[in-house]
Amino acid sequence: MKLFMTRKDVQRIIELAKKSPIEVCGFLLGRKAGNVLIVEEARKTRNRLNSPVEFEIDPLEIAEVLDEAEKKGLEIVGVFHSHLKCPPIPSEKDLRGMNLWRNVWLIVTPSGEFRAWTLENGEVKEVEVEIR
Ligand SMILES: [Zn+2]
Repeated sequence: MKLFMTRKDVQRIIELAKKSPIEVCGFLLGRKAGNVLIVEEARKTRNRLNSPVEFEIDPLEIAEVLDEAEKKGLEIVGVFHSHLKCPPIPSEKDLRGMNLWRNVWLIVTPSGEFRAWTLENGEVKEVEVEIR
């Protein structure tokens, strides 16, 4: 699996992470073509936990984003969030979330690192991110 993103979208998420005292989060909207995910838009959401170490997206906001994506002819291909003080590797809680929300998870840090992950048969796998 491979995730294609524009530099602009990645930078935008990193900028959000830099400016925020809490974890930032949102969805990656785009298209799936076989094993390739093409991100067309990074859509920020609120982190309803207001926490520097975890995040949660309100179900109502998830419904809003699904609706928006559908209107644009896109789908949710991934979830993004930031890690403030640890590397961009899924936490225990992230793994539980990934089990429920089975798409690509992009994690960024304020220092500009970013890595993407997915769960495959219960095992965490890194997803290659190609900047276009
Ligand atoms: Zn996390």
